[in-house]
Amino acid sequence: METCYVLDASAFINGFQITSKRNYTVPEITEEIKDFESRLKFDAVVNEGLLVIQDVSSLCLSCVNNIISESGDILRLSFPDKKLIALAYMLSQKGESVKVITDDYTIQNTLKIMDIPYSGIITEGIKGIYNWKKVCEGCKKEFPDDYPFDDCEICGSKIFKKRIKVTK
Ligand SMILES: [Zn+2]
Repeated sequence: METCYVLDASAFINGFQITSKRNYTVPEITEEIKDFESRLKFDAVVNEGLLVIQDVSSLCLSCVNNIISESGDILRLSFPDKKLIALAYMLSQKGESVKVITDDYTIQNTLKIMDIPYSGIITEGIKGIYNWKKVCEGCKKEFPDDYPFDDCEICGSKIFKKRIKVTK
């Protein structure tokens, strides 16, 4: 059986090349894809029938919460992140061979704990020019790379570094 790819928003933002016909994501992730170029790519693969937007049950989500409750990462995962991990878990429980495509280190760490395979886009060898930006986990405000604090000045939530593709 061909591997199922579970795609995080970063897969689209960082230019993951879809080669498989079996690609999944959760509805919440689609809302994180905001920039025009990534959105076009996303809509194109949906229209071509290459991406299934699959929701997960709250039972499945609480299963994942239980598994990772001991991990410090649970506090750093957003709701969409948890849904994505739950989707990968659900597919692997169904006996599918799953690989999650994400550049989010918190998601990667959690998948490692859960023994679910993942891959970042750098390791896939996709070429591009990348940069970092800082994003608030709470209100999603974006800060310049040199913003000196770990917490958001607007809402006080934690700030993450995200890798973004720089358009030439
Ligand atoms: Zn904020």
